[in-house]
Amino acid sequence: MDKYGILKTYFGYDTFRPGQEQIVDALASGRDVLAVMPTGAGKSICYQTPALLSDGITVVVSPLISLMKDQVASLIKSGVPAAYLNSSLTYEQYMLALSRMQAGRYKIVYVAPERLSSPRFLEVCRSVSVCIVAVDEAHCVSQWGQDFRPDYLKIADFIHSLPRRPVVGAFTATATDRVRDDIRKILDLDSPVTVTTGFDRPNLFFSVLTPEKKTEKLLSLIRERRGRSGIIYCATRRSVEDVCEMLLRAGVPATRYHAGLTAEERQKNQDSFVSDLTPVIVATNAFGMGIDKSNVSFVIHYNMPKNIESYYQEAGRAGRDGEPAECILLYGPHDIITAKFLINNSEPNPDLSEEEQASVRQSELSRLEDMIRYATGTGCLRAFILRYFGEATGDFCGACSNCLESYESEDITEDAKCVLRCVAETQQRYGMSLISEVLKGSSSERISRLDRAGSFGALRTYTLAKIKNIISALLTDGFLTADGEYPVLTLTERSADVLYGGAHVKMKVLGKKKKEPEMKKTSSSQALTGEDSELLTELKRLRARLAREENVPAYIIFTDATLTDMCRKKPRDMTEILRVTGVGERKRDKYGMQFLGVIEKFV
Ligand code: ADP
Ligand code: ZN
Repeated sequence: MDKYGILKTYFGYDTFRPGQEQIVDALASGRDVLAVMPTGAGKSICYQTPALLSDGITVVVSPLISLMKDQVASLIKSGVPAAYLNSSLTYEQYMLALSRMQAGRYKIVYVAPERLSSPRFLEVCRSVSVCIVAVDEAHCVSQWGQDFRPDYLKIADFIHSLPRRPVVGAFTATATDRVRDDIRKILDLDSPVTVTTGFDRPNLFFSVLTPEKKTEKLLSLIRERRGRSGIIYCATRRSVEDVCEMLLRAGVPATRYHAGLTAEERQKNQDSFVSDLTPVIVATNAFGMGIDKSNVSFVIHYNMPKNIESYYQEAGRAGRDGEPAECILLYGPHDIITAKFLINNSEPNPDLSEEEQASVRQSELSRLEDMIRYATGTGCLRAFILRYFGEATGDFCGACSNCLESYESEDITEDAKCVLRCVAETQQRYGMSLISEVLKGSSSERISRLDRAGSFGALRTYTLAKIKNIISALLTDGFLTADGEYPVLTLTERSADVLYGGAHVKMKVLGKKKKEPEMKKTSSSQALTGEDSELLTELKRLRARLAREENVPAYIIFTDATLTDMCRKKPRDMTEILRVTGVGERKRDKYGMQFLGVIEKFV
């Protein structure tokens, strides 16, 4: 069977997506690969197809136990013999899987990185033919990436210890050159074919808003999108609680998700959201991994994330069905402070020396700078993201808030001087809120001690929100910092440049409107007619039942995209159903009759 036959028979797809075929060809012909692809682009097919084209076993190194389990379940359902080796297995299960691997019973074996140095595993690998090693989340080899894993450093040794060097494919969604260089070097890739694919998601509309009051803005955004499904990401558990409560009080059906909830509540809330019972979920970044909900119509970030990688991954959960969807960042002056605080107070990684720890932090801070530039810049937002991920692109996309609104940059040097003087006069001991109140000349009791400062009331004609925006512009440009254990504003080397050196400070302000940004109404079920969406509901019900019976996540049976396509095509028999995207022969044999039954009853 050739690659197209494999794609159709096992996975049920007619065509490769951009980049996939190039990667399959390279690996199948013995060339190493470095693939940089966004989440959801379809990495797995890229190593699973060559695995089925080659004699021998493909070993996939993956750091995420839960995803490993799902991938293997999914492969087995598609008719590919596969297994995983990780700490979730008992000793007996582990030994059994190894002996089956030795007997050549598997084509693909997923393995957690810490297993690579286990003598028994090595012994088995040396006695069989390992033809491909695929490294998922390859950025974990680099301490410059967001999730360095020392166990990943064992991969190169593992590869060298095999009697014949397998071809190596490394997969990541991380962008920076430094991380890519590390991957090539540390995994010892042999002049790899480097493929960067499709970071653009043309159906997503990007916008950054800087509202005076985030809660009010959020509420009105949600009300305008009533009935549509959306995720609201918050930086902390606390703000998840607050925002969710605020929405519920305002009568918006919403649920919540963060790591502080019990496993049962998390599962329940997630199910309620995924099955469209509750349209809105408020969550920390703990939410989303491995969740395949294709009809998310908007993702709103209530706080600015720590870097563009996280932002794009989270925002990218909108519009997986290809329908128009929105990614909205609500940016506020405090976000910089919160993000810095989170970086500076993150759990130290016990595997890193103090020196390494410090340089990781440095790299996180520099990635935060990029995020801040996204939130405060005036250029095309999509272009900013694509360039960040190394893709060449134009300067105008016409589908982001910066392309549709015109922003001007206002010179705020005189106001900035007032702020800096105020910080100096109050001995650099206070945070953003208090400094803003002093400048506003507020009569609150908290600042009565400070009302003799020369800068008291110096900006009294401005709103507190505007004063905070000015402070945030100073933080952005490094004329002030707020790095300490408490977010206290302090002067920097560059402060003097503004006060005495003639440096200018600029801030992004809304200029004349170019065009009212018009959002297309959307939801995946609207793409179907009323009747078809009833059919979709029936098919989903069947899928949910099968998933429960087999104890696997629903999307492993069929994805939403597959069920939607089934509603459109309404196949009548076991041959026609193969034309539905995502239905391969094996799944057809297993589930075909039942789904055809539901469709037949319907037509
Ligand atoms: P990643 O690992 O890059 O996040 P996956 O490998 O999980 O992405 O693929 C994401 C989704 O895209 C899956 O539902 C997968 O079945 C689907 N997919 C992958 N390749 C194709 C293709 N060529 N045509 C249609 N759907 C595809
Ligand atoms: Zn744009």
